[in-house]
Amino acid sequence: MSATEHSATEQSTADGGTVDAGTASGEAVSGEAATSAPRRDAPRRDAPREGEGMAAPYDVVIVGGGPAGLSAALVLGRARRRVAVVDAGAPRNAPAARLRGFLSRDGMSPGALLETGRAEAAGYGVETIRARVEHIAPGFLVGLADGSVLRARRVLMATGLHDELPDIPGVRERWGKDVLHCPYCHGYEVRDRPLGVLGSHPGAVGQALLLRRWSDDVVFFPHTLEPTGGERERLAARGVRIAGGRVARLVADGDRLRGVELAGGRVEPRSAVFVVPRMTPQDGPLTALGCARDADGWVVVDASGRTSVPGVWAVGNVADRRAQVITAAGMGSAAAIAVDHDLLDEEIGRAVAAHREPERLQRL
Ligand SMILES: Cc1cc2nc3c(=O)[nH]c(=O)nc-3n(C[C@H](O)[C@H](O)[C@H](O)COP(=O)(O)OP(=O)(O)OC[C@H]3O[C@@H](n4cnc5c(N)ncnc54)[C@H](O)[C@@H]3O)c2cc1C
Repeated sequence: MSATEHSATEQSTADGGTVDAGTASGEAVSGEAATSAPRRDAPRRDAPREGEGMAAPYDVVIVGGGPAGLSAALVLGRARRRVAVVDAGAPRNAPAARLRGFLSRDGMSPGALLETGRAEAAGYGVETIRARVEHIAPGFLVGLADGSVLRARRVLMATGLHDELPDIPGVRERWGKDVLHCPYCHGYEVRDRPLGVLGSHPGAVGQALLLRRWSDDVVFFPHTLEPTGGERERLAARGVRIAGGRVARLVADGDRLRGVELAGGRVEPRSAVFVVPRMTPQDGPLTALGCARDADGWVVVDASGRTSVPGVWAVGNVADRRAQVITAAGMGSAAAIAVDHDLLDEEIGRAVAAHREPERLQRL
């Protein structure tokens, strides 16, 4: 029996064997679309519901069960904290078949990474609840979509970001397959092939210049973006061809991109196309808590992920659009240690106050 299996067995015994149907059947939360009904995967303690005699609060409620949230959950579970991960089940890289650039996990499926992470965290008593968090009230009361409320001493937000894609037929359908955004995630797999870059975002010229490192055959499609004279010069100097005019759609043969069709009907053959999405943090619950934001509207955090609101941390893509999977996981780990220390400080403060109380009473 592995350490993980051993801990999981201990946990379910300690809880009087309360395991829900999903766990009993071995069903795991994966990267499929979110469902509204909460579902628990880990050995379960009954979650506190407002007005129902309120069980002790969780030490930490982690909102979001991607690499950032699960990594934090693992560290906090091992630190013997009572932790719930509430996850809507729609991680950002779910459309991709393989995860790249994560040392020791290169080529793994994104779903398998999260499944492994959930199992590891569950082995230390962490609960995973499949649900969407709608709001968080100070204190903290974490409200789920079904109306139930979890109480938490600390909150760790790891809800990722939303990629808004250009509204060009074929882009959304092929996203994560051969419509890509990150050369460091996917460039190697399409190296030396005919590549395109869609100019739907101010960052697209820079993306085309970067992508030349993976292929000699890069075509820039300005679409709605008019490159400046300087940008045209840089593209030409690096051997990036410009195909003018609006892009009408992406053309596929079966499940493979064939090319980019321009408004006039001409099809430029391409094996893969890169876009720069507009990235929006999924940080709604942090707004109500009053977390400070920077000029671009992103929540401000320190090196440990601590926000301006005491007791609230934000890690992974919700706080940093550049975070890769391994970076997001690292942020989660660092935040977990900071959260544990924050809880410990509070516990020591309470212990000292209790320790002094008999002396005070004696003096009366
Ligand atoms: C197509 C694609 C391919 C990629 N490939 C790679 C790659 O190969 N290598 C790499 O390093 N990076 C890759 N990335 C980047 C990678 O997806 C991110 O680095 C990573 O997902 C960030 O992890 P995270 O935990 O911050 O967020 P996510 O993985 O997005 O997880 C956030 C979780 O929070 C949940 N959530 C959101 N809101 C709520 C809410 N209100 N209540 C409850 N749960 C909520 C979501 O459903 C989701 O499960 C890729 C990205 C894309 C788009």
